[in-house]
This record gives sequence, C-alpha cells and structure tokens, in this order.
Amino acid sequence: MKADLHTHTYCSDGTLSPGDLQKAALQAGLNAISITDHDTLKAYELWPKSEALALISGIELSVTFAKASIHLLAYSFALQNSALQALCLEQVVRREKRNCDILERLKSLGYPLEEQELYFQGAETIGSIGRPHIAQVLMNKGYVSSIREAFDRLIGEDAPAFVSGARCSLEEAVEVIHEAGGFAVVAHPHFVKDKSILRRALASSIDGLEAYYASFGREHSDYFVHMASERGLFVTGGSDFHGETKPQNTLGSSLSPIATVERLLERSVANNGLL
Ligand code: AMP
Ligand code: ZN
Ligand code: FE
Ligand code: FE
Repeated sequence: MKADLHTHTYCSDGTLSPGDLQKAALQAGLNAISITDHDTLKAYELWPKSEALALISGIELSVTFAKASIHLLAYSFALQNSALQALCLEQVVRREKRNCDILERLKSLGYPLEEQELYFQGAETIGSIGRPHIAQVLMNKGYVSSIREAFDRLIGEDAPAFVSGARCSLEEAVEVIHEAGGFAVVAHPHFVKDKSILRRALASSIDGLEAYYASFGREHSDYFVHMASERGLFVTGGSDFHGETKPQNTLGSSLSPIATVERLLERSVANNGLL
C-alpha cells in the first residue's frame, strides 16, 4: 500500500487539477492519496472517482498556537460536516483580507498589483488564494525573477511585505476536526522553529505527527517518529506535492506507514463512503 497523504491541487496553490493529480498519482504507482489543499475542500467536488486509487478526506489548515503559525493536517473527517465547512469559509475570508493587506504593502514598496490578478488559474476552480499566487504574479509582472526571490525579498516571513493575518487557533481547529469525525496531525514539524512550542502543541489533543516529509533525511524522520511514539501519536508521511510551484517535492517522494493509512482510510470510508 503506497500512500502519499500530503498533496495540493490548483484549488489552493498546487498547479494540477484534481483529475490530473489522480493520473499523476497512478503513474507514480500510488494506491492512495489525500488531497490536503490549504483551507479548502473544493478539490473533493472535482475528483473523478477511481477504483485504482483510494482517496482519504483531507485538508491543511493554517492555525495559530502560542503566537506561532502552524500547519495542521486533518484526515478522514466527514466532508459534509457543516462546522468544518464553515471554518473553511472563515479561513478563506481571512485570507482575502490578508491578501489585500499584503498587496497594500507591496504597492507602498513600489510593486503594485491588483487583487483580480491573483485569480490567474481561473476563478471558478479556485478554493483558496495565498502567498504563492502573489509570488507568481510578482514574477509574471517582472518584479522578481523567481518565486523564491519573491519570498526572500518581499513576502517571506522576514520580508517587508509579509503580513501574518488572522487565523483560527489550533485548539479551535482540532475541536472542529474531531467533531467532524477526523484526525488532527501537525504538518512538517521542522518548520516550527521553537521546539518548545511544538512540544506544547503535541501535548494538546493532537492525534498524529507528519514524520515523513519530502525533504527529510532518515535522521530527521527518526527524530519525529520518536517524538510521536513517546506521546502515543501516530505518524503520517507525504510529499507536500504542489506541481510546478514546488518541483523538488515530487509526488510519492514520502509515504505514510501502512498501519496509519489503513486506519485513516477506514475512518474516511466510515464518514464518506468510498470517494
Ligand atoms: P500562505 O498559506 O498564503 O501563507 O502561503 C504558504 C505557502 O507558501 C506554503 O504552503 C508554501 O507552499 C509556500 N511557501 C512558503 N515559503 C516559501 C518559499 N520561501 N518559497 C516558495 N514557497 C513558499
Ligand atoms: Zn501550499
Ligand atoms: Fe504546509
Ligand atoms: Fe502543504
């Protein structure tokens, strides 16, 4: 059972449609995936059913914990849960406000662009817009020569046009995920710079930790597997595949342990039937 449980589509900041992601996953020899778009479930409306590839319900929520920004993965929840759908809507509205604030800053720095320009992939299929879209437009307009430069010089965490924006708290998100019958997993824990914050987050009602990630070496993964097992958490793995916007994160480059996949798939099917 080969399962990559961290992937994005063009419903957030990936470049493939859900259908093309399915084809790519089959080509990569995967048996299961989860689509974990940022703050949106839109891809699940566009997924063509496949008998060859199992889909586990998933999402990646941007949350705040102890003033730090954490990405929280959720799996196996009921897609039709109204509290979770409402949370997604709130998060997207917060993103719109934040995007406007970032554009304001960019304008004052001499890099004007219009909000409409961010919807370059076709507004009808877009679920959530964020900094990667802004980076792409900055590049298209010739303000920067790469996505990386856009983050380094303008919109990355330590750059002048960065705005962190309001997000929901980790505790609130976990509560909604559990209410929707799902599991809450801390994504790419190496991005949480303050390890004491990570430990405190894991002491809350989190269920799992993403211990296998695209860029992790063996040592890194072992460290997080140990951290999870000490706390009775399960571990997941995924590539954080985005398509062309993050070419180094190739689909299937990190996989989830089979026992986890079976558990998550079983719960997803109980909540949604076969997707
Ligand atoms: P947002 O959710 O709008 O804050 O955007 C965060 C997303 O931007 C992440 O999920 C990454 O995919 C992408 N990202 C963050 N930092 C960088 C970077 N330095 N270079 C390229 N992409 C980045
Ligand atoms: Zn992303
Ligand atoms: Fe993330
Ligand atoms: Fe991601």
